[in-house]
Amino acid sequence: MLIAHLPSGYILGRLARRRRREASDVVAAAMLGSVIPDIDMLYFYLIDGGRTHHHAYITHWPLFWATIGTVGVSVGRLLGSRRLPSIAIFLAGAMVHMALDTVASPIMWLAPFSHRPFELVAVPASHGNWVLNFVLHWTFALELVICACLGLGWLRSALPADASQKGS
Ligand SMILES: [Zn+2]
Repeated sequence: MLIAHLPSGYILGRLARRRRREASDVVAAAMLGSVIPDIDMLYFYLIDGGRTHHHAYITHWPLFWATIGTVGVSVGRLLGSRRLPSIAIFLAGAMVHMALDTVASPIMWLAPFSHRPFELVAVPASHGNWVLNFVLHWTFALELVICACLGLGWLRSALPADASQKGS
């Protein structure tokens, strides 16, 4: 996934905030969680020199985030943290990242127990540039739909309240 991680995090955060109005930082937490697995790109480019696909790193192991999530939410609950909704939505954002990456890229859902990659659709290397391979593949439409949902949500929130209700 190239462009829709941050928009998906924003949408996730807004949906969560709609349910829990008192938690004002859940949108930021969801957005951060939705992109945090790709922080491994720093290691990929600066240290690894691109030798290993970054989806093989622990930051792209769903069980890593599930474990961090279980521990984080448990400790947050034990301590009675007021940040618990933000912690939970941050980790939910990371898991959404894993799910969206799985659409067109290999993700090892069972690592470290199994390193078998799963992907819904294999994007062929039809073009010389890997970005073009993804942008020109039909799965990129999912990214455009997510971005369009974000745009429609912003448009709807920008309209006066009575104008948005007249349309429905
Ligand atoms: Zn990723």
